[in-house]
Amino acid sequence: MPVSNEELRNRLLQERAYLLEQLTRSGENEYRGAGYGNHIADDATETFEQAKEVSLQRNETSLLWLVDHALEKFELGTYGICEACGAPIDRARLKALPYALYCLDCQAQIEQRR
Ligand SMILES: [Zn+2]
Repeated sequence: MPVSNEELRNRLLQERAYLLEQLTRSGENEYRGAGYGNHIADDATETFEQAKEVSLQRNETSLLWLVDHALEKFELGTYGICEACGAPIDRARLKALPYALYCLDCQAQIEQRR
């Protein structure tokens, strides 16, 4: 039986709570959240830039950005859509990686370019 959006969203919320706890424990209080609602596109770009910078320092922070970003996409109704080609991401992939940004094909292409 395929995993439901509801279940994926719950898993993302759990992951988010866990990551926030980890960050709080390690004394990192810099994270300001992705800002739901207003100026989502601007926020996403800005947050992405921030995430790129901090990802070098803290893996949890970049993971938290991905989780927040995925939750934002639920609000926008674009959850589960590949950000590169716009095709639906395979459900099995989402089940394994609820915050996946790309479908398998695009992910493979991106990794090849590295
Ligand atoms: Zn794709």
